[in-house]
Amino acid sequence: MSFSVGHEYSHGMIRQAPRLVNTTIHKFMKLRPHAVYLLLASGLVSLRAGPAMVSIGSSPTNTAFSTETTQSPASNDAATGATFKVIAGTPDSNSAPLAALHDGNIPRSDDDPASNFFFSGGGRILVDLGKPIDVATIASYSWHNGSRSAQFYQVYAADGSAKEFVPEPGAGVDPEKSGWKLIAKVDTTANKPGQHAASIAPNTGQSLGCFRYVLFDIQKNPKEARFNDTFFSEIDITDANGPTLERIQIPKIIKQVFASKDKQFHYTLDASEAPDLQEWSSKNLIPVLDEWYPKIIAMLPVDGVVPSHEITFTLKDTTRVPGMGGVPAYASGNSVVFNANFMRAQKSGEAIGAGIHEVVHVVQFGGRRERQAQAVGHLRPPTWVTEGVADYIRWFLYEPQSKGAEITLRNVHQAKYDDSYRVTANFFDWVIKNHEKDLMRKLNLATNTGYSENLWKEWTGKTLPELGADWKQANLARLGLRE
Ligand SMILES: [Zn+2]
Repeated sequence: MSFSVGHEYSHGMIRQAPRLVNTTIHKFMKLRPHAVYLLLASGLVSLRAGPAMVSIGSSPTNTAFSTETTQSPASNDAATGATFKVIAGTPDSNSAPLAALHDGNIPRSDDDPASNFFFSGGGRILVDLGKPIDVATIASYSWHNGSRSAQFYQVYAADGSAKEFVPEPGAGVDPEKSGWKLIAKVDTTANKPGQHAASIAPNTGQSLGCFRYVLFDIQKNPKEARFNDTFFSEIDITDANGPTLERIQIPKIIKQVFASKDKQFHYTLDASEAPDLQEWSSKNLIPVLDEWYPKIIAMLPVDGVVPSHEITFTLKDTTRVPGMGGVPAYASGNSVVFNANFMRAQKSGEAIGAGIHEVVHVVQFGGRRERQAQAVGHLRPPTWVTEGVADYIRWFLYEPQSKGAEITLRNVHQAKYDDSYRVTANFFDWVIKNHEKDLMRKLNLATNTGYSENLWKEWTGKTLPELGADWKQANLARLGLRE
């Protein structure tokens, strides 16, 4: 069954000039064939430049933009190595850099701002192909589950030779009066949300013309009052004399479900973006997490909260996600996302420990609450507390032999109890050994029912800053130092 729909139309706003050229030359040919030949040979007129035809396709699901009327983006088209520049308007603060438009990659989902370029209120993008080429097609791809799927823009092109040529026609400058030629107007606002593709091709011949520069004048979706800036995923410009195009494929979904021995817990491993890690994860990662997840649940019980019996582990290719390159993993509800690069590099290092840390978060935050009261109005502990709990269980219970959370001569002077992660884990270990054995359970209970700093005094007889100072003192003494 195919969900894709498409339609084509000849562009109504295309000026008649190319057609006139054709007609003129056609007449000319009958009369003076030699003259025409000379015109062509000298490159003064491009005979093949006919009015453009815009094909539009859309699909509610991920078909890599392949529809009845459009093909998937190419990864080796002329835009791949071109220079893209914003010459009018402001990119949205959540937008990906312009590189996302010609990196040969498409977003992973229908709401993936980090993989799309989008303006805040429209704007203009200038593409410099480096040299004039015979442009065969211009295509634009956008993807969103709502109003940001629709494309609404005009595209111009130029070879830069016109006397009146303005290389960067900014806001308010009419490109057609500045040496640019209107190629087409694209409007996909009639289509349903999902993947939208528009492909601009010549009506006749193989080329839209010989151009070095392409200008996209992108407007907001006129049918929407809000969220009306298009999530552009990719822009292709193909060279009539270029290499055979390599089209992006829909990624293969690789999912595996594992059940615990007692069938109480189920784990889904999604290795679609890192197939090479599937086997290692199923043999080395999942079994350890299956062993520890029920243990952690038992360690951190909260009356009225049932931790999820299902976890999804996704190995994500984060190389393209700005700001995600250095994040090893994160958890949200009962979903854990691993940075595939990190896991690949840390197979025999920190990978599994990072998994233990994340499943602690699933216990902390991924449970189903049976009593409403617990969810309403209570104060959550600061993140240094919840990260400290996750790292305590990892470094002091799961892998104490790795001594990953030690306070040493190297870090003792800067160490503060609320530094989060392993430093806080070390502080918790000290509190557990010296004051409160039941600290992990109590902190997790407070995570669910309400946290306040007064609890520390209640549990240990000392305030949190006092405990922090004692812990620091103990470490300095152990290392033979003074404050
Ligand atoms: Zn964490």
